[in-house]
Amino acid sequence: MSDKATFSRTVTQKCACARCGARYEYDRVLSTERPRHEVAEADVELARQQAADDMAIVRCPRCGKYAPGAIRNRLLSTGMMLGLAVLCAAASLGLIVLAGMTGRFFWFLALAAGLGAAWFALLAVIALLMPTTAKTRPTLG
Ligand SMILES: [Zn+2]
Repeated sequence: MSDKATFSRTVTQKCACARCGARYEYDRVLSTERPRHEVAEADVELARQQAADDMAIVRCPRCGKYAPGAIRNRLLSTGMMLGLAVLCAAASLGLIVLAGMTGRFFWFLALAAGLGAAWFALLAVIALLMPTTAKTRPTLG
């Protein structure tokens, strides 16, 4: 039986700004998909995600300074997209080479891989220049 359920957990991450000292927080949503009865396993997986480094890009809501790790996460997500772009470009080149060897050109796959390369390159530029910043709010009290 493939009765899957999505288990999720929202964790409030607390931060303190290194520049202006403001204390703020943001919500980090963790989720995992598992067979419905594997509640304990889902709990373990969510705890593992919680313990792992967050990939969120966080800025101080008061002065706009990036939290430590934000720049690294930004470069990581840019690198990831660039990697996918290179992978797609390689796949499309591979198909062209294959066509040269076998005389059979899988033009649809080559086109899809080529478009994928362009798409991921675009996403890499967006990740670098316009990173998705996590919504932060000042901590009350
Ligand atoms: Zn600040």
